[in-house]
Amino acid sequence: MKIRIDKDRCVGNARCAAISETLFELDDDGYIAVTEIDVPPGMEALARRGARACPEKIIEIIEE
Ligand code: SF4
Repeated sequence: MKIRIDKDRCVGNARCAAISETLFELDDDGYIAVTEIDVPPGMEALARRGARACPEKIIEIIEE
């Protein structure tokens, strides 16, 4: 599973990082720092929850 994030549309509310700081790394200003994440085994549920938590709906889950 991968996560793709439309970083340019991030509004920096950190809802994703509240679900998992490990998966959804933020920069110093509180915006998402990454555009593509390989989800480590066992973290798929957190990835899905993080995607649902983003009010901007810019976190896309890519099932492989
Ligand atoms: S929840 Fe969405 S808008 Fe908020 S910091 Fe994460 S990616 Fe950005």
